[in-house]
Amino acid sequence: MSGIFHEGRWYENTDKVCRRCGSPVYESDTPGYSYQCFGCDENFYSFEVDEQDGLYLPPVKVARPVYGITGIKALEYLLDEYGEPRIFRNQPEAEAFLLAHGYIIDNLEVYFEEVSEDGE
Ligand SMILES: [Zn+2]
Repeated sequence: MSGIFHEGRWYENTDKVCRRCGSPVYESDTPGYSYQCFGCDENFYSFEVDEQDGLYLPPVKVARPVYGITGIKALEYLLDEYGEPRIFRNQPEAEAFLLAHGYIIDNLEVYFEEVSEDGE
């Protein structure tokens, strides 16, 4: 599962981008619209967005519900050797790391949280 947290809510990736600013768009919270862009703070109909070309994969952090309990709201991050959330170059790299460490992704509730350019 790949996406972002925005104001405490999880939004799954849609593989669509905003035609105005090029940011990824996410499922709209506004009835009647398909997508929303957090960059422009606008809602869009499905014909107003473009397909992501799929070439760019953003860096991700790996998170899971605390203690691995499904449905719990608090998340914990996979940490690096300094105790900071480990940042992977992209989701496939993160998945490869998890597999190499014996995790079976299908059995885990994990989130691949995109890291934006400013490091947030
Ligand atoms: Zn936009």
